[in-house]
Amino acid sequence: MSELHERHRAVLPDWLALYYDRPLEITHGEGRHVWDAEGNRYLDFFGGILTTMTAHALPEVTKAVHEQASRILHSSTLYLNRPMVDLAERIAELSGIPDARVFFTTSGTEANDAALLLATTYRRSNQVLAMRNAYHGRSFSAVGVTGNQSWAPTSLSPLRTLYVHGGVRHRGPFAELDDADFTAACVADLRDMLGQTRGGAAALIAEPVQGVGGFTAPPDGLYAAFREVLREHGILWISDEVQTGWGRTGDHFWGWQAHDQAGPPDMLTFAKGIGNGMSVGGVVAPAEIMNCLDANSISTFGGSPVTMAAGRANLDYLLEHDLQGNARRVGGLLRERLREAAAGLGVVREVRGRGLMTGVELVHPGTDEPSLPAASLVLEAAREGGLLIGKGGSPSGGSALRIAPPLSLTVAEAEEGAGILERALRTAEAELQGSAPA
Ligand code: PMP
Repeated sequence: MSELHERHRAVLPDWLALYYDRPLEITHGEGRHVWDAEGNRYLDFFGGILTTMTAHALPEVTKAVHEQASRILHSSTLYLNRPMVDLAERIAELSGIPDARVFFTTSGTEANDAALLLATTYRRSNQVLAMRNAYHGRSFSAVGVTGNQSWAPTSLSPLRTLYVHGGVRHRGPFAELDDADFTAACVADLRDMLGQTRGGAAALIAEPVQGVGGFTAPPDGLYAAFREVLREHGILWISDEVQTGWGRTGDHFWGWQAHDQAGPPDMLTFAKGIGNGMSVGGVVAPAEIMNCLDANSISTFGGSPVTMAAGRANLDYLLEHDLQGNARRVGGLLRERLREAAAGLGVVREVRGRGLMTGVELVHPGTDEPSLPAASLVLEAAREGGLLIGKGGSPSGGSALRIAPPLSLTVAEAEEGAGILERALRTAEAELQGSAPA
């Protein structure tokens, strides 16, 4: 065990998950690459869980941070803050939500917390609908809407949550249905849940593509179908765009737009990529909902000028360089390459995703059994080959690979990463062949 790993274990919580048998210490990054403390270079296909959205050490973001840091690091929301207003205006306009107001937080968890506070206050109900297998964060209320039980450490939530089907397309009782029948079955399930709440739920919170759940998405239009039902009862739709926002899914700027027949959600939450590594999160809601709180509030760190300057520079870069289009093109190519590689491999059940959000579902070779060992083996072998990826998934709990490189990924880097991954998959397959499923 490295000296730093030992010190980490002695002072930090055991439940702070660490990747790899020999955990990595990342010391610096550039473009789509990072380096560890031993000087090894890696192609980064996970971006610190989708947090490095454009590129590591993007000069435009670094410059904006330096300039703002040299003036003032922090002021608080008690004073006017130009970088915060600038970024809020951009996000309000891009959100698609009419009469939008933006409240900045420092994480996705806190953004969802704020959205739940608004929804429950506005609707005067602590009943919430959430998706099975979803992940929304690690605070008391965010855990209370996290259906993915491997990431929900307590059931003592202040919310009364009912979980509905629809987030996972590839497994579960509706997996064999075609898209139209799957959607109809999920709508029927939603109606059944609404019967149990007598329509009194405050909101449905949902990720357009489940992130921690393994990059799995319902058929396009599912949330539009849900929306029609929710509207009958005045129930709000909160789209958690923490992973799917800012063009990550390629076809759309927001994940909800794959379901836009019923218009924008009532609220959306964001975090991760917008700060390109700086802690920026937030919630967007129409004024009527945002302003339903009737006591004062402040946020000490939400909207801090340095993080706002980073967000603004990052967003400008993303739009000016059409990184959404790049995500669509290069992401499509990456999946094509991975599907070719997977064709002869019994360890891969499915390559799925959109834009630069690709999930690879792993099974024990020759079976349909989700395989956690396969995912761990591939992660280790990819690291040895110089590639960082993530894992996730549910209901199997971690049998999917998660691939989400910075959105500036080049074609050559996609090819290189796919090659490393193919070799890692072969290594895992060879290792598991002949053994019994774990
Ligand atoms: N929502 C989603 C969809 C997420 O993926 C995450 C983080 N993985 C969160 C919320 C929580 O964000 P944070 O870790 O910034 O609190």
